[in-house]
Amino acid sequence: MDLTLSDADEAFRAEVRAFFRKTYPQAIIAKSANGQVLTKADRVASEQALAAKGWLAPGWPKEHGGPGWTVTQRFIFDEELERAGAPNVSPMGLLYVAPVIYTFGTEAQKARWLPDILNCRVLWAQGYSEPEAGSDLASLRMSAELVGDHYILNGEKIWTSDAHHADWIFCLVRTETTPRKQDGITFLCIDMRTPGVEVIPIITIDGGHHLNRVTFADVRVPTLNRIGEEGKGWSYARYLLGHERTSYAHVAAKKCQIADLRRRSAQAPWGDLLAEAGGAFRRRLAEVELMVEALEITVLRVLAPLASGEAPGNESSILKIIATETAQAITELNLELAGVYAAPFFADRTGADWRAGFETIPAFAPPGVAAYFLTRAQTIYGGATEIQKTIIGRQLGL
Ligand SMILES: Cc1cc2nc3c(=O)[nH]c(=O)nc-3n(C[C@H](O)[C@H](O)[C@H](O)COP(=O)(O)OP(=O)(O)OC[C@H]3O[C@@H](n4cnc5c(N)ncnc54)[C@H](O)[C@@H]3O)c2cc1C
Repeated sequence: MDLTLSDADEAFRAEVRAFFRKTYPQAIIAKSANGQVLTKADRVASEQALAAKGWLAPGWPKEHGGPGWTVTQRFIFDEELERAGAPNVSPMGLLYVAPVIYTFGTEAQKARWLPDILNCRVLWAQGYSEPEAGSDLASLRMSAELVGDHYILNGEKIWTSDAHHADWIFCLVRTETTPRKQDGITFLCIDMRTPGVEVIPIITIDGGHHLNRVTFADVRVPTLNRIGEEGKGWSYARYLLGHERTSYAHVAAKKCQIADLRRRSAQAPWGDLLAEAGGAFRRRLAEVELMVEALEITVLRVLAPLASGEAPGNESSILKIIATETAQAITELNLELAGVYAAPFFADRTGADWRAGFETIPAFAPPGVAAYFLTRAQTIYGGATEIQKTIIGRQLGL
């Protein structure tokens, strides 16, 4: 694999870098750097800044509003966005449902939904998982009964990321009970303001509100909101998951996090763990840096077929696993660096008076600890690691 960039690619990199330095809202970069939680307004402002430049949907085909970049340019763009410290885009609309809409949707559906996604006028959520239907997704039970030109929905979705911010949700629903459970599933798009839709928050172990339960009680959804054929939703869902699993790598962000670890270690009030020759921290950091390099090469390998317009293959499962393991390893190092200063995170949540004994808390410790907890979930979402290993095993004929 030749990793040398052409002059044109280097010029493109300079253009993207200048955009993030001069045009993109610097307040959002500053907030992210401080470990502050971004609000919905921040996220919309970030995505609209990219949209104004025509850069919000690098992976979309040009005919639907993508910038027409090569795979290398997309890679460079992702790298520069993360290097600048800008947040990644919310994937549910742009990366997950949009490819399904432009690949399987009608012309009317494309005209109705794609421009709003492309300009960040609406946010989407993904309604796949249900209680008892996560890894075994095809067991899903949320029912959609066809009555005239509407489906009547009853049931619930769970672990729905950012549903509290979403205007629309795409759901897998059961339109028929069939001997093979993958049949009888239909792919529907639902306006979150429809009567009977309720969003109930789930607070995660990091103390944040990212997830929700979404319940549906006699929710009327026009058949015009169905993507593709009734009962064929499973094949569209699988197509979407291939796209989803290529979206986890965030190589440049990981490189920045490694640089942060080095800087933090040198500045830590309790002594520089990196300075210990042969020390455990130093050795582990070197190992994790190598993991990031391996991840980068794997990203390029998985993305290469996309250059010829192919959908991501099962290789995306490899990417999902190593991206997850690397992300978790980085957050573990952060926790190690926080040392005793990780304690306030726990104490704050139990209401104990932790301030006694801690005069200065390094700024990185609380968000670093929260990130450690949130990143535990990565082995689960987007398809658990065990499931990815099964997919890889099957491909190898094991
Ligand atoms: C932070 C977060 C965000 C999420 N966001 C969304 C979202 O926006 N939309 C959405 O629809 N879903 C979302 N999910 C749900 C996610 O997709 C599911 O949690 C995931 O598919 C696992 O399903 P489950 O939770 O039911 O666990 P289970 O399927 O019950 O799995 C429990 C454990 O058993 C293992 N296991 C299960 N089956 C097998 C098997 N056949 N072989 C070996 N091991 C197995 C799993 O690997 C796992 O370790 C999110 C989850 C999290 C944690």
